[in-house]
Amino acid sequence: MELLKQRIRRDGIVKGNDVLKVDGFLNHQMDVALFEEIGREFLRRFEGCGVNKILTIEASGIGIACITAQSFHCPVVFAKKSQTKNIAGQVYSTKVESFTHGRVYDVMVSRQYLGPEDTVLIIDDFLANGAALEGLIHLVEQAGARLAGAGVVIEKAFQPGGGRIRARGIRVEALARIKSMSEEKGVEFAD
Ligand code: 5GP
Repeated sequence: MELLKQRIRRDGIVKGNDVLKVDGFLNHQMDVALFEEIGREFLRRFEGCGVNKILTIEASGIGIACITAQSFHCPVVFAKKSQTKNIAGQVYSTKVESFTHGRVYDVMVSRQYLGPEDTVLIIDDFLANGAALEGLIHLVEQAGARLAGAGVVIEKAFQPGGGRIRARGIRVEALARIKSMSEEKGVEFAD
């Protein structure tokens, strides 16, 4: 998505060799007009897949997922990072290792909001090592729901998550794929 790549080139800040800060339009201040374009692009890519629910993870996926859901005309469920125990099987839960915080979270979704009748599109901001997406995929599997695929805004293609998830036969659409990046040279896109 050219508009997104331009924005990353203009406002993205590379930290070290593997973290891209996009606080100016995605992760802190949110450019809602850009989000609308992103939502429309996800719709273009997943139209006709029968998506009736969008699943994301708190916190940074929620804004993108909500605006995307306006294009799909469906609700958003976000996996909560929670200490709550799975009392009487009321929730689906899994563990996710955070790339940015370097710790493991329990995340959960109430059984009320995800089930076998659902066709789910997973949305998140970044794809790096794949832990966040794999956690969300595990929740979809527990629910017995159909997975249409996953849409991520930025994939760091030099990290292993995308390759591993696609190798499972899961459709992953990334709107900007980064081949490499460094503080000196900035960001180089894969395609
Ligand atoms: P993964 O689980 O695929 O390793 O990482 C995905 C999650 O980590 C995303 O939800 C995102 O919040 C965070 N993340 C991973 N890499 C980056 C990055 O380079 N920049 C930012 N801002 N967040 C990242």
